[in-house]
Amino acid sequence: MEKVVGILALQGDFKEHFDILAKLGVGAIPVRLPEDLAQIDRLIIPGGESTTIGKLLVTSKLLQPIRERILAGMPVWGTCAGAILLARRVIGGIRGQMHIGAMDITARRNAFGRQLDSFEANVAMKKAAETPIPAIFIRAPVFERPGKDVEILARLPDERIVAARQKNILVTAFHPELAGSTQLHRYFLNS
Ligand code: GLN
Repeated sequence: MEKVVGILALQGDFKEHFDILAKLGVGAIPVRLPEDLAQIDRLIIPGGESTTIGKLLVTSKLLQPIRERILAGMPVWGTCAGAILLARRVIGGIRGQMHIGAMDITARRNAFGRQLDSFEANVAMKKAAETPIPAIFIRAPVFERPGKDVEILARLPDERIVAARQKNILVTAFHPELAGSTQLHRYFLNS
């Protein structure tokens, strides 16, 4: 059975995720309402602005149902802002920032500062891809203080963590979907 992929489509670059899945011949469902969740087996949370997506998750009544599905084992992948939303701890968030908080890791927002607020790099990913994948970082976070169940999948040459996994939860600080690469989407679909 094909698994049904949902893409959270409240704000941010969800369209690019649909486009990459289409390249792989995989359709996906936009998730905007609690009832959309009943139709999906896995979820992608895109990049965008984590504070805005967090607020919209609350007003759409999606925050708690998504958290419960993840805790029940639904595979989920957060790219950039999506990753921040999945982290249990956030450094540099705004007061009262809402997040799903399912993964035992700290996301440091906007970790690359003004000078380097956007850049492209080839990232070597443990397990997920045989060759380094092109990745775009836009006001990206880095991950810190991984809990004992967290596996580090990628670091930058300076050792900072930019991809990690905890069981059913995958986070990447960057956007593979903006670089047109399908490798990580394939990895997520097979996870
Ligand atoms: N800096 C953004 C945030 O904190 C994330 C940027 C992105 O998703 N490209 O939400």
